Amino acid sequence: MGGHMATSRRAGLQRCALILLLCLTAVAVVCAAGCGQQSLSPSSSPSPQLTNDTTAPVTTASYDQGWNNKLVVVKLEGSDDSGVCTTKYCVDSQSVHTGTRVVVHGDGKHTLAFWSSDEAGNVEPQQTARILIDTQGPKTDVLNSPTITQGARLSVTFVIRDHTPEATATMKVSGPQSCSYALGKLSTNKPHKYHISTKLAAGTYHVWVKATDLAGNALAAAGTSTITVNPKPATVWVYITNTGECFHRWGCWCLRKSHIRISREEAVAEGYRPCSFCNP
Ligand SMILES: [Zn+2]
Repeated sequence: MGGHMATSRRAGLQRCALILLLCLTAVAVVCAAGCGQQSLSPSSSPSPQLTNDTTAPVTTASYDQGWNNKLVVVKLEGSDDSGVCTTKYCVDSQSVHTGTRVVVHGDGKHTLAFWSSDEAGNVEPQQTARILIDTQGPKTDVLNSPTITQGARLSVTFVIRDHTPEATATMKVSGPQSCSYALGKLSTNKPHKYHISTKLAAGTYHVWVKATDLAGNALAAAGTSTITVNPKPATVWVYITNTGECFHRWGCWCLRKSHIRISREEAVAEGYRPCSFCNP
């Protein structure tokens, strides 16, 4: 009695398993036909909805479009009337992958190509996304080491090297006086000339540039240079006359009629010659 019950239950289970297998096979056949590029034949069409879909899916990519200082995860999401079948992508023209989560790494500008195809065989034209990554801080260099006379015009030439196109920079000068100059956002990888307006005291200074790039990376390395400010020579006073063409030392006999005090520098600049008698 017990054995008979077990046998009929086993037979029932076998029937169920067979039906299930048939169902699964049918689903698999429909799915395989749907994913394929060839159009579906009317006889195998599972529903009118699939054959009516002639519009390709549209895939959207979600990611941070600015400069990133770490790897970037891009989420791809396809939408379609008949249900998206597959989403494919390719980073920097490398091999094609299937999936909706893309991890992009490595410093530089990356191109992500992506597209989806639906169950009716419609394939979306490729879309591209620009992924910007920079994990390294900028490197700065001061390109000149100016020597000036105190009070003279002082220009410092420097460059900021980085993957990102811009960086926020500050020039630092230290020595007998210490100064900091906010330079704002500057383009990278090209020389800049900055005119220091501070009248620096005589002495030797160190100058370097601090910078933070667009990805938020702080300075990685800075090349330092020197600024030499020589003291301004003491003014040498000489004398000119109302009518003469020379300048003189105080006490020269040529000054007996008139004398006007003037700096030697100014006298030379105005075209006066040194007197041959007093040799100023
Ligand atoms: Zn003289």
